Amino acid sequence: MAQTQELVGLARELGNPARELAILGEGNVSARAEDGTFWVKASGTSLGTLSEADLSCVRLDAVLRLLERDSLSEAEVEAELAAVLTDPAHKKPSVETFLHALCLAHGGARWVGHTHAVAVNQILCSQLGAEPFRRHIFPDAVVVCGRAPAVVPYTDPGFALAKAVRAELKRYGDTYGVPPKLLLMENHGPVALGESAREVLNITLMADKWARTLLGTYALGGPRFLPESEVARIDSRLDEDYRRRRLVER
Ligand SMILES: [Zn+2]
Repeated sequence: MAQTQELVGLARELGNPARELAILGEGNVSARAEDGTFWVKASGTSLGTLSEADLSCVRLDAVLRLLERDSLSEAEVEAELAAVLTDPAHKKPSVETFLHALCLAHGGARWVGHTHAVAVNQILCSQLGAEPFRRHIFPDAVVVCGRAPAVVPYTDPGFALAKAVRAELKRYGDTYGVPPKLLLMENHGPVALGESAREVLNITLMADKWARTLLGTYALGGPRFLPESEVARIDSRLDEDYRRRRLVER
């Protein structure tokens, strides 16, 4: 299947109203191509009804170069986002193109999906912010969403948010030695960083389930977190599994 078709498929899965992950123009998706470009949802389009004409192709290095600037005005963002398109006939890319470029260049991801999942945001928009997600409560979230999520406090979407995400991706890599699978943006929503479209959907659905489960525990005295030693054990066992599989593949 062509990458753009697969990206449309992922967008529609994430925008399926029954999943309560995104409505109207909320959320966005991207996928890295082999030639230094990536596809990203165009501004003002909806995940649930996305078509291939709603995808814009942009140059990854050009977007990353913009992030070297100290600041960009709203008018400059408009002009620069039009200038990074590989084809001027494409629609204007999402303002979160900056965020996607970072996840694809420095977050170890080939596919990225960002949503405003209701259950996850019930926690990220609460007094507790991302705190309940900093420790795990069941093994499958460790398996699918990784040892720990990356977290950024609320930041103005677009250029400023991307700068905050860049700093957090660096801190995360320095701390854990691997990129995150799940990035939580407080008062905003989750970002899933995957090797494949399927992995992005899996991470998003597991984060949603994790959030719903957490919310339920607060009705019964609050979460009983797994000990760090158990989380580390699940995580290291995965590492071994992965290495073994790689050995088999070779
Ligand atoms: Zn958003």
